[in-house]
Amino acid sequence: MGFRRLDIDYQEITCCPLCGQDGAERSVLRRPSYYFARFEIPLPRTGVALLECPHCSLLFKSATPTAQSCDAVMLNGATDVWRPKTGEHPALPMMRPYMEGAESFLDIGASNGDLLAQIGARRLSAMDIVQYAPCKAVIDGRGEYIIGQLEKGVTWSNQPYDVVTAFDVFEHFLEADSAVSNVLAFVKSGGYLVIETGDWRTVPDPGSWYYTNLFEHQIFWTRRTFEYLQERFPLAITQYSLVNHKGRRAMGLAKRIALSAIVRLAPNPLFRKAMLNAGRDPGHFGAPGLVDHAFVVLKRLEAGSEAIQGRTAMAAAVATGDL
Ligand SMILES: [Zn+2]
Repeated sequence: MGFRRLDIDYQEITCCPLCGQDGAERSVLRRPSYYFARFEIPLPRTGVALLECPHCSLLFKSATPTAQSCDAVMLNGATDVWRPKTGEHPALPMMRPYMEGAESFLDIGASNGDLLAQIGARRLSAMDIVQYAPCKAVIDGRGEYIIGQLEKGVTWSNQPYDVVTAFDVFEHFLEADSAVSNVLAFVKSGGYLVIETGDWRTVPDPGSWYYTNLFEHQIFWTRRTFEYLQERFPLAITQYSLVNHKGRRAMGLAKRIALSAIVRLAPNPLFRKAMLNAGRDPGHFGAPGLVDHAFVVLKRLEAGSEAIQGRTAMAAAVATGDL
């Protein structure tokens, strides 16, 4: 076990990847290296600051891996970190109200297809960065397997879905605006987009949050950022709830106790070294009761709906100087 050192290229980011405004520093990462799958990846020499956008409140890293180095690491390591889970999928109870009558369903970031295997929709599809046999087996004959990067746009059926889920996806975007707009294209008008991602305003110092210390997490959302999406795209926030991460919600007692111990011992250098030798970074774990995620449901508005008409009228009034 142990990690193999991997030096990668970073790019400097100064403007918000969602709305383009200049960010202001809120905190910094204090670790010398990231750990992902089997790799130890040094941070850039100039360090990584966490910048807040003054307009949409997105928090973003001042340096991110280039798209090319990000792809190289993720494509190598992604399936290593996908571990199969048993029992009812922890996201299902909160999704049920939005699943009534849904005939078509797409899971973005489907990994091994755990969630899809528990959905009864007639048309069942998956999207991910790489194909994975267990997921392919779940959707075979029922839908499409979309492979690619959301930022770049992907080839797909162009037949949108009643419900689209994106759990643990929105924090990965390098180019957030194009990624979100490509995600929305998957949702039928009147359909739902269900998201779970970290909410950075739930923690006292985002620099010491395990979640920002992950190599694969580039941006961090909060309620205000989703409100900005409402202004930018034809959609409405239907639900915004702060939750424990779905993986931790479903955890048994023995695992909760072990996790508490890891979080408590993580600052101890000897413990840290022993964990790293065993192939895990103790800084990657959140305490079992930590409520640091948002469960968000966005409804894609139908063309001609009152909300859209109101918005168009307002935009016209602004353009003509009436407002
Ligand atoms: Zn912004």
